[in-house]
Amino acid sequence: MIPFGYARASDVSDAVRQIAAEPGAKFIAGGTNLLDLMKDDVERPARLIDISRLPLTAVEETDNGGLRIGALVPNSDLAWHPLIEQRYPLVGSAILAGASAQLRNMASTGGNLLQRTRCAYFYDTATPCNKRQPGSGCSAINGVNRGHAILGASEACIATHPSDMCVALMALDATVHVVGPNGPRAIGFAEFHRLPGNKPHIDTTLQPDEIITWIELPAKGFAANYSYLKIRDRLSYAFALVSVAAALELQDGKIRDARLALGGVAHKPWRVASAEAALHGQAADEKTFAKAADVLLQNARPQTHNAFKVELARRAIVRTLTQAARGTPQSQSNKHIQ
Ligand SMILES: Cc1cc2nc3c(=O)[nH]c(=O)nc-3n(C[C@H](O)[C@H](O)[C@H](O)COP(=O)(O)OP(=O)(O)OC[C@H]3O[C@@H](n4cnc5c(N)ncnc54)[C@H](O)[C@@H]3O)c2cc1C
Ligand code: SF4
Repeated sequence: MIPFGYARASDVSDAVRQIAAEPGAKFIAGGTNLLDLMKDDVERPARLIDISRLPLTAVEETDNGGLRIGALVPNSDLAWHPLIEQRYPLVGSAILAGASAQLRNMASTGGNLLQRTRCAYFYDTATPCNKRQPGSGCSAINGVNRGHAILGASEACIATHPSDMCVALMALDATVHVVGPNGPRAIGFAEFHRLPGNKPHIDTTLQPDEIITWIELPAKGFAANYSYLKIRDRLSYAFALVSVAAALELQDGKIRDARLALGGVAHKPWRVASAEAALHGQAADEKTFAKAADVLLQNARPQTHNAFKVELARRAIVRTLTQAARGTPQSQSNKHIQ
């Protein structure tokens, strides 16, 4: 047993004050990732600051027509929230493709963004891992790397970000609102998660003394033409080998606006402006979708064991965009049995 302190935060300011006062402290929300990491001795926080009872549980419409989601809204409540079902079904579909019903009941919106990679070496303290212990080496590069990154990796780390929900939030241009000792600030979703570079131990641009308070979605939800496709080794309860979030706005068979993001392929949800530009103004057909897939994957560099992911991603992109264009999203048929 490794001893650690525990304190409950009374409000957001108290949470920030407590974490700023003790550099070794960590927030705990649902605990579904952090407690596993502590049990495996990957993380050793000196103190847990429990934020699970803070009043950050509302889902509210904003004045500019968007949606504001409290950081402590459980994943299951968010997926089934009427405003998400009606206006942002891409987000609900992505959440329901992840974990299990029990986990989604505990997991929070903020915690989902900050869940750590599922690279097996990261969890195995007997092996070198630059993310767990900077400078120790990366066991995955010459090890078993079937599930690892094909885009944006570095010589220090080839891990992927495991979240499903974040792929949808990336596609929809969400904003992460945080509060730290210097007050509140907003981080665009594309800037929130980092590529590994030579500092793979730093996953995000959130500072250690900042708390996520809420996530904002802009007004445009692409509720008519969207799809989230997750390809994994088992039908449920597994992380993505490749996932695709696609959203289209169509007019007379042509694409007026498009969003496309990939999960399971990089250290962050992967979105490239030129791939979406390749869709704009084009006919919503397989030829257009294949071209966008080529653009999105043009810098793919597979590892020893995962060259299959490049072709898998290419086909998944075409299929997901086809489903979105037809208004037949992947998860709609099985949403009620997950
Ligand atoms: C077996 C299993 C399978 C899973 N499968 C999937 C899957 O298929 N897809 C998927 O997307 N996810 C999956 N998950 C991950 C799950 O979604 C995350 O564990 C969960 O979302 C984390 O939320 P939490 O509230 O439990 O976070 P916690 O474990 O409490 O915290 C995680 C991290 O976030 C920090 N934190 C939490 N809230 C805040 C905040 N408001 N501000 C600042 N820091 C904060 C904590 O300090 C900690 O570092 C799975 C998890 C498990 C255990
Ligand atoms: S890929 Fe990243 S997380 Fe996995 S062993 Fe290498 S450094 Fe660690």
